[in-house]
Amino acid sequence: MRVSRTAGAMPHSGIREIVNRVIELPGGRISRLEIGEPGFPTPAHITRAAWDAVPRGVGYTPSTGTGELREALAARLRRVTGLDLPASRVVVTQGAVQALSALAEALLDPGDDLLVPDPSWPNYEMIGRMRGASVTRYPLRASAGFLPDPDEVEALITPRTRALVLNSPSNPTGRVFPQEVVAAIVTAARRHGVWVLSDEVYDELVFEGAPANAVALDPETVIGVYSFSKTYAMTGWRVGYLTAPARVTALLSTVQEALLSSVSAIGQYAAHAALTGPQECVARMREEYRARRDLAVRRLTGAGLRIAVPHGAFYAMVPLAPGADSRLAALDLVGHGVAVAPGSAFGDTARDHVRISLSVAEDVLETGLDRLLSWGALTG
Ligand code: PLP
Repeated sequence: MRVSRTAGAMPHSGIREIVNRVIELPGGRISRLEIGEPGFPTPAHITRAAWDAVPRGVGYTPSTGTGELREALAARLRRVTGLDLPASRVVVTQGAVQALSALAEALLDPGDDLLVPDPSWPNYEMIGRMRGASVTRYPLRASAGFLPDPDEVEALITPRTRALVLNSPSNPTGRVFPQEVVAAIVTAARRHGVWVLSDEVYDELVFEGAPANAVALDPETVIGVYSFSKTYAMTGWRVGYLTAPARVTALLSTVQEALLSSVSAIGQYAAHAALTGPQECVARMREEYRARRDLAVRRLTGAGLRIAVPHGAFYAMVPLAPGADSRLAALDLVGHGVAVAPGSAFGDTARDHVRISLSVAEDVLETGLDRLLSWGALTG
């Protein structure tokens, strides 16, 4: 019997190949810098509040999320954007990944084109292709500090382009786009009638500069995508959200009904507690990530490597010797005791880099950096 050609043609991401090699190795044998999980447990007050809320009932919720959570999210977005956004313009999703796939359902038709950064988080391309869209990539070159050139982005827009993805702070580079770059891309998108999907899941993990906050520039063109996963160390609770123009959120209520019925009620209780409870945990984790970023930058630049210093998120790109193949390098590095993500997993532009994750405990990071720097095929 046949299966879907679209799903059948979908490769696994190039990170999975490395994860599969190391996931069952005994702890200590390998420094795992390949995956982007927050290096902290979910703060106890969030877990406790979710536990306490369960007796209130764990049934289906409205397909766009509980009223109390949408109100709290709208209040946050009003604070962040300075715009008067009502709760009806907020949709709760099963993580940012599901926000993006619901948006693909709501905005794209098969044959449309989705413009995504290169390098970027592999799911953008997978989500576009699952919808039957083509995917075009705009380059973020190491020589330009992994920042986009707005003119180059605009030149890639065609009549088939329906949406473009912005992601700042960026996975995999940790770079924070300057506000004028974000503004120029939003202006170009508006000029061509193209949606901007601004993935801001790392908006609370910025060390220098400011998150894209692209919705504030034009809430009719830009759809903001956010998550509890990284901010509150809540990856497994699977709660994210988005804000979009009213006609899009109205569509999404049908899309979410079809795809999910509703996001887990327990996850939504936890998210509400995270948002309305004490925020020191966010500042504390940010400072820890900053210390780990500082450690990695010190070690890498001290070894003579020229890197684009990450100003947000918890990743850094490390350059390989010219002409190196990052997939083969990552496989070789596993034998050297350190797991990294090959740049080729994120597109073509950074295939001569590997990504390291800085979210791991400091001792794991230190050992991983020792192993990486003693490997010998890196470049200054
Ligand atoms: N967007 C980016 C850029 C990410 O790096 C990730 C996770 O790594 C996500 C979205 C997914 O977030 P969530 O856990 O909310 O689905």
